[in-house]
Amino acid sequence: MSEVKPSIQDYTREELSALIKPSFRAKQVYSWLYHKYVTSFDEMKNIPKSLKEELSEKYRISPLKIVRKEKSRDGSIKYLFQRDDGNTVESVLLLMKKREFHEDGSLKHQERYTVCISCQVGCKVGCSFCLTAKSGFIANLTAGEIVEQVRMIKKDNQIDANRRVNIVYMGMGEPLDNLNSVAQSSRIFAESDGMAIAPHRQTISTSGLSTKIVKLGKLDLGVNLAISLHAVDDELREKLMPINKAYNIKSIIDAVKEFPINDRKRVMFEYLVIKDVNDDMASAKKLLALLNGIKSKVNLIYFNPYGGTEYRRPEERDMRAFQEYLTKHGLHCTIRESKGLDISAACGQLRDNELEERGE
Ligand code: SAH
Ligand code: SF4
Repeated sequence: MSEVKPSIQDYTREELSALIKPSFRAKQVYSWLYHKYVTSFDEMKNIPKSLKEELSEKYRISPLKIVRKEKSRDGSIKYLFQRDDGNTVESVLLLMKKREFHEDGSLKHQERYTVCISCQVGCKVGCSFCLTAKSGFIANLTAGEIVEQVRMIKKDNQIDANRRVNIVYMGMGEPLDNLNSVAQSSRIFAESDGMAIAPHRQTISTSGLSTKIVKLGKLDLGVNLAISLHAVDDELREKLMPINKAYNIKSIIDAVKEFPINDRKRVMFEYLVIKDVNDDMASAKKLLALLNGIKSKVNLIYFNPYGGTEYRRPEERDMRAFQEYLTKHGLHCTIRESKGLDISAACGQLRDNELEERGE
């Protein structure tokens, strides 16, 4: 394969200023990329021709292309992106709140957008409930490829550069297993001359690589942390998430205690609820005890079944009982609405459909 050029979205504003002469042009390039969502250097109208040529010789501008798109009834849109090497990853545009108007017709609030992005093709962690894990690990995404998912989704939906967008690293892959690119993408998202997505609007979700949680904390990016806990004792957690043998629950809790969090924020603990596996009240009690003393909130997630899995979706009443117990004892606890259940909801499922259709 011919050598692949770096993509222009791999660079922070400061790095780009060092690469482009004169450096003020970097701000213009940033604006074309992140405010106008251009897909060719040619479209950068106020950039001199010679510089446009130089840039297109050195850098790529479209590291990913949209190969499939599914819209759900609730407005969420799931995207399948393809890399140069043919591999695909998923991202989802989630509409957390629809646009609403007051009775007099004036705008109450705009839609709230959240983009769920991928950071790897496949994943090494191998959780038994996760479809992404089934394909094993294939590749790390570059920072530019992570950034491009949001840029292309904003472009495709004509989301104005000024509109607020949240980002969750909850698509395919384990962010802390690709920490350099993930950290770089987070910085690029936050650039005030670019998409200006403040770090407190970004959430990195991890299966709990304790040593890397500490490392992420030391980078002091200011992002929110989400821990995919899913079980309250090591024995069950090892069955669901083999990585627990290397990083047990205690090591994760210790790492979280060291993590720098914004005063107004809490660490999110994700708890994937699977029928007859971890949906009992004894687990709820243990979870409460485990999180004692940590500024935390819990997000209960309905397990989303797919062909070939033995795990089942929990009953709504068990979900509610679990939530009520935690809430009653003072823990913030929400239930994640299964956004886009009518499309291929949990990450990994759109890609799986695509591979099946291609006969892979
Ligand atoms: N690797 C990271 C981030 C990506 S996974 C992590 O594990 O945290 C994103 C979320 O999708 C995780 O919380 C995971 O538990 C959840 N998930 C995986 N398979 C699922 C399924 N079948 N149904 C519902 N959620 C699922
Ligand atoms: Fe990887 Fe997260 Fe899936 Fe586990 S749940 S296999 S860590 S993507």
